[in-house]
Formats: sequence, structure tokens, C-alpha cells
Amino acid sequence: MSIRRLSEDMINRIAAGEVVERPASVVKELVENAIDAGARRIEVVTAGGGIGLIRVADDGSGMVRADLELAVERHATSKLAEDLLDIRTLGFRGEALASIGAVARLSIASRHADEPHGWEIAVEGGRIAAPKPAALSGGTRVEVRDLFFATPARLKFMKGERAEASAITDVVRRLAMAHPEVRFSLSGSDRAGAEFPVGSREARIAALLGEDFGDNAIPIDAAREGVRLSGLAGLPTFHRANSLQQFLFVNGRPVRDKLLMGALRAGYMDVMSRDRFPVAALFLELDPHEVDVNVHPTKADVRFRDPGLVRGLIVGALRQAILASGHRATSTGST
Ligand code: ADP
Ligand code: MG
Repeated sequence: MSIRRLSEDMINRIAAGEVVERPASVVKELVENAIDAGARRIEVVTAGGGIGLIRVADDGSGMVRADLELAVERHATSKLAEDLLDIRTLGFRGEALASIGAVARLSIASRHADEPHGWEIAVEGGRIAAPKPAALSGGTRVEVRDLFFATPARLKFMKGERAEASAITDVVRRLAMAHPEVRFSLSGSDRAGAEFPVGSREARIAALLGEDFGDNAIPIDAAREGVRLSGLAGLPTFHRANSLQQFLFVNGRPVRDKLLMGALRAGYMDVMSRDRFPVAALFLELDPHEVDVNVHPTKADVRFRDPGLVRGLIVGALRQAILASGHRATSTGST
């Protein structure tokens, strides 16, 4: 047996598998890019559960031709963070577009204010074509077709159009919750369309979780040693069968972090039966140096320097708020 170096193509496809698990991961990366580009309007269109088509259009900064060419290369980013503990953008790895281009048919049209017209670049299964002029008034439009056509093994793991489409909806809802200053729309043959106009955080929460959540929620605002928790937590009587209505954010980044989800559960331990899930939109704010977001390629997990402090703050704030709302452990039965 002899050792051989992997081809560039192979390296890219392996790396892509980490970032692009499923269509929803593509949507997440593209919407995050749009937010990082300062977009005020983001339109997401999907078909075939996102396997057939994902299109994300924004009115952000756009890219000049040279940047467009760099954008689809691996480890190329305009968001260089010398200090990985001081990341203020949603992206920082410079891997998403290259990964998507390695496993799908990717085309990006973009227009920067410094350019007389827009440019469009296409990547198919890792092969990058030269940019061509494109008609575009501003911003960026990314189209991904035939996701995983270059990695048929991965395609076999997809759960079916319905499940992939609802995972996409979930990703967009979470990012929309974190950014009420951005107008979102989500449409395409995968679903009935949805629009979220610009408004306050409270209005966005109501748009995403329903007016009745607002009527059945307690405001949370607590701080300890520089860590602040704010948002809305549902009354113990307002519960669900799964965690899909639990929205957790760390410094504006949607996360599905075990520690945070565990703390949320613990906050309701005495007032909700174990098989039910509280509804909540909770925003944790802390010094970026106190949290590492570079734990996993999809950035869904984070690591806190002082996990005990964070957990204690969340559990304490929830218990106190629930108590203050007049709810007693006996009223719903805890087992
Ligand atoms: P990262 O976001 O980690 O930098 P990506 O592969 O997602 O890596 O994007 C590479 C680069 O392409 C970004 O750093 C950014 O400069 C540019 N880019 C991507 N999407 C957009 C967009 N919608 N608008 C403007 N620039 C973009
Ligand atoms: Mg990115």
C-alpha cells in the first residue's frame, strides 16, 4: 500500500460534506452571507426541498468582479478575523461558497456600486467558469441547483422534499428572528409564501411565534457578570411537543446549543412535564472573548468559557420569572 495525496477536487468534496449537510445548511450559509453584506431585504426561494433549487437574493453591498472570483475559492474571505475569539460577522471560514460549488451547480450574480454593471460566475462540481457580465441593479443573487449531484452518496441521505423544506423554513425563521431590521421573504414551490416586514424585535417574535405567544409569555431581562439574557419565555401552560419553537441566540447568532437547551429545560423543570417543551425566544449577549463559536463547521454549537455562569443565569432568570408570573409547581404537575 502506498500513500497518495488527495486531489484538490476530492479535498473540496470532503470539506463540503462538513459545511453542507443538507439543503437547509446551504440556505443558512447564503442568508448569513447576505446579512454580513448589510442586506435590508433578503428573498429566499426553494423548490424540490432545496435539492432542485435554492435562490437567495439580497440588496447588500454586492461584489466587484475580482471578489466574485475569490468568493468561490476555498479559504477566501473578506471577514478575516485575526482573533478567532473576536468574530463579529456570521461567516469567517471562507468555506461556504467553495463547498457549495463543489457539490452543486452554483451561480452567483452580483453588482457592486464600483462596477458599471453586474458580474455572474458559475461553478459546477468544483469547476469555476470565467465571470460574465450580468444585468442586475444591485446586491447579490445566488442560485444553487441540483444540490449533491456531484456526491450521489450524500443525496441518498436526504429525508425527502417535505422534511428538507421544513428544515429550510426553520433555518430562515431563526435567522429572521435574530434580524428584525431585515425584511425576509420565503417562497417557492416548497411552501406557501411567508413575508416578515421590518419591525421591532417584539413584532418579529410575534410574527414568527404567533400573537398568542405574546399573550402567554413572560419578559426576561437578567444580567450577571457581564452576561445579559433578554427576550420572551412562554408560560408553563404554553408548551409544545418538540423544541422547534425554542429560539436561542448568542450574540445575535442562532444556535441549537446543548448547554442552552438544557438550561431552558431546567428552568421549567418543576412546572412542566418532561415530554413537553417550553416556547421561548431568548437572546444571550456577552463579551465575544467569553464564547467560542468556532467549534463546529455549521456553527450551531458554541463553547462558553464559563458554562456554569451562563447556565446559572438562564435557569435562575426563568425560575424567577415563572414564579413572579404566579405559577406554582403544583399547577401543571411535574411528572
Ligand atoms: P465567509 O462568509 O466565511 O467569508 P463564504 O464562502 O460564505 O465565506 O463567502 C466568501 C466571501 O464572499 C465572503 O467573505 C464575502 O466577501 C463574499 N460574499 C458571499 N456572499 C455575499 C453576498 N451575498 N454579498 C456580498 N458578498 C458576499
Ligand atoms: Mg459565509
